[in-house]
Amino acid sequence: MARVYNFSAGPAVLPEEVLKEAADEMLDYKGTGMSVMEMSHRSKAYQAIIDEAEADLRELMNIPDNYKVLFLQGGASQQFAMIPMNLMKNKVADYIVTGQWAKKAYQEAQIYGKANKIASSEDKTFSYIPDCSDLPISEDADYVYICENNTIYGTKFKTLPNTKGKTLVADVSSCFLSEPVDVTKYGVIYGGVQKNIGPAGVVIVIIREDLITEDTLPGTPTMLKYKIHADNGSMYNTPPAYGIYICGKVFKWIKKMGGLQAMKERNEAKAKVLYDFLDESKLFKGTVRKEDRSLMNVPFVTGNEELDAKFVKEATAAGFVNLKGHRTVGGMRASIYNAMPIEGVQKLVEFMKKFEEENA
Ligand SMILES: *Cc1c(COP(=O)(O)O)cnc(C)c1O
Repeated sequence: MARVYNFSAGPAVLPEEVLKEAADEMLDYKGTGMSVMEMSHRSKAYQAIIDEAEADLRELMNIPDNYKVLFLQGGASQQFAMIPMNLMKNKVADYIVTGQWAKKAYQEAQIYGKANKIASSEDKTFSYIPDCSDLPISEDADYVYICENNTIYGTKFKTLPNTKGKTLVADVSSCFLSEPVDVTKYGVIYGGVQKNIGPAGVVIVIIREDLITEDTLPGTPTMLKYKIHADNGSMYNTPPAYGIYICGKVFKWIKKMGGLQAMKERNEAKAKVLYDFLDESKLFKGTVRKEDRSLMNVPFVTGNEELDAKFVKEATAAGFVNLKGHRTVGGMRASIYNAMPIEGVQKLVEFMKKFEEENA
């Protein structure tokens, strides 16, 4: 068995320990004589799995009691619609557009009401986070929306925008559980789990209770109402049962590693290895303004497309896979999520140094 160093942006690397545990339990989950995949979601054994997953997530993120945790489906992209459908009481919302995912959310919201683009970094290919300390927040905005970590471009909000008292909604898909978070600063925190937490198919929504109401936009399908899922403990219908089980195992792994503060330190140490090298390299360059650099997604280029392609090809052959940049930006991108060990980044940098010497 040969495991590679997988720098995929998502679905992405998971802790090996978690995969092994899941393998051990594949045919017989704790004496039930069946796999979690084969289990009724109404069974006692499954209820214990989802309850424990929620309890562990609440402990990790220190989620206050007046927030609900929902395990949903439809990908992060479904939230682009679900958020306006449930939250747009005045039919007005402000969007900060810092990348493709924020842009898609902004475009989707326009179907349901007046979505205002109050800031953007599109002028420089989303390579920075705009100053959000004094934006023209709409008087009647139902919420202010951000994508906190921009997976494709490798930028991250280091300080949250000043929403002037309006509810903050954040897509944290690619920085979920990468560092401690103050949940009370948000109305909604959500993310697809396939970047940093688990297998594709689960979306976690952490939402303040007062935002969960019957008062949704006319025509909102039952399945897209937060209230239905909240009232039914994420079991209105069959939840993505196996995916939630793996997420639960990852929560336990993070707890064992020391929680979110430890994750942050580990992620900072890892990112530093790569960014320090990019800053001194004569061949490779980071593409993001330094103060806005993500700890999770690190895009870089050589400045020469042919050389980029050669690098990706040789890296792949050497066991460093999925380094090709997003199709809209080109170059390379190393996603170094929680489960990527520091050795993976150190070895990648050694490989980059060697490539630089050979191609000087
Ligand atoms: C991947 C990603 C999405 C899209 O997720 P899907 O689950 O494929 O809908 C949205 N936002 C961010 C920040 C992402 O990284």
